[in-house]
Amino acid sequence: MSWQNHFPTKVFFGSHVIVDNCAALKTMGSKALVVLGQGGSARRNGALDDLCRALDQIAVSYAIFDQVEGNPSIETAINGACVAKKEQADFIIGIGGGSPLDAAKAIAILAINPIGEQEFLALHFDRVLPIVAIPTTAGTGSEVTPYSILTNPATESKQRIIHPHIIPRLAFLDPRYTMGLPVRVTIDTGVDAYSHALESYFCINKLSPFSELLALEAMRILGPEIKNLASDSWQLLYQNRANLLYGSLLGGMAISVTGTTIPHTLGFSLTYFKDIPHGRANGMILPAYMYFNQRKSADPRIKKALRVSGFDGLKQFKELMRELCGQPPCCSREEKEIFVSTTWQAPNIFNNIAVPERQDIEQLVESVVSLPRNDSLV
Ligand code: NAP
Ligand code: ZN
Repeated sequence: MSWQNHFPTKVFFGSHVIVDNCAALKTMGSKALVVLGQGGSARRNGALDDLCRALDQIAVSYAIFDQVEGNPSIETAINGACVAKKEQADFIIGIGGGSPLDAAKAIAILAINPIGEQEFLALHFDRVLPIVAIPTTAGTGSEVTPYSILTNPATESKQRIIHPHIIPRLAFLDPRYTMGLPVRVTIDTGVDAYSHALESYFCINKLSPFSELLALEAMRILGPEIKNLASDSWQLLYQNRANLLYGSLLGGMAISVTGTTIPHTLGFSLTYFKDIPHGRANGMILPAYMYFNQRKSADPRIKKALRVSGFDGLKQFKELMRELCGQPPCCSREEKEIFVSTTWQAPNIFNNIAVPERQDIEQLVESVVSLPRNDSLV
């Protein structure tokens, strides 16, 4: 057996880590472009204030680009890169959920390479400005991954830019920024983090003993936390927030090695066509995906994943996901056909303990819209 891991990000975790470790930022350059979401959350949750204090302390100047929408488009990245060039930024700092972090990564590519959209999508670049990531949701793990996920109207889906150079050099994870995260975003992002761990654990091609370890630990931490999110007396203390952020980091490290598989690929279609937030889309698919694996594979990892996460079985898992993510949407026949063909074209769906045939993907899409009632499988 041979395997590789590449975890180049220096991660700082805990309260006040940005200001306490501002010297690390000094090594990145002399002018930063700070990339934010357009909703202004980074201004309210304290992350931007801390960053500005840190940059002032080390006399690094900065400009702000705060136009990133959810599920960012390639066009937004191009606009951000124009600002980075105009401001002569020599490094990029993303603050926010996966959307601003992924936009920051794309901007870091486009700001330094004289390439158009097609060359960008074809990964025709070799230089990238240094990237710093400050996550304020606990879900995507983008602070440590080589992925930037952008909405591409040309393919009617979301497109993965995958390149080792876009793995952030520094990541500052301060759970305080996530304390005020709304219930709905906390649930969607927590399910996304859990989905990363589960999918990584079920990958067969690129997994390593290290990715397994990361995925199992992420599920052990995130399983009880996402169950907690479904309880009526919903209240998250600092320790719960820290667990979610740490679990999300581990999930991000796990998918950095293995990639994701069927739920993420199908989920991109649900997000694109039905405007369902990324993590919630995964959560709507996960039960049917688990039933599919159970039907097609006797792999012991299926039961182990549920056990490690603290679930009694697949029925309990399905009920929790329904409670957290709600009923899947109604889709037209045309939409279902597009979901099937888009998912079927993605090579990563075969990186899964149960290798699907086209008919399986058709059934999966059908059952995401109406999950089978037979719960006696586990
Ligand atoms: P998001 O789209 O970044 O943010 C969702 C919402 O939460 C936005 O309204 C945002 O406001 C708000 N928000 C963020 N932090 C907040 C805080 N601390 N307090 C209050 N509100 C806050 O959501 P996300 O789920 O984190 O990211 C989803 C994106 O990441 C998708 O595009 C997905 O495809 C991608 N993704 C990437 C990877 C990867 O490895 N690169 C992995 C998984 C998913 P603002 O508008 O102010 O930001
Ligand atoms: Zn995800």
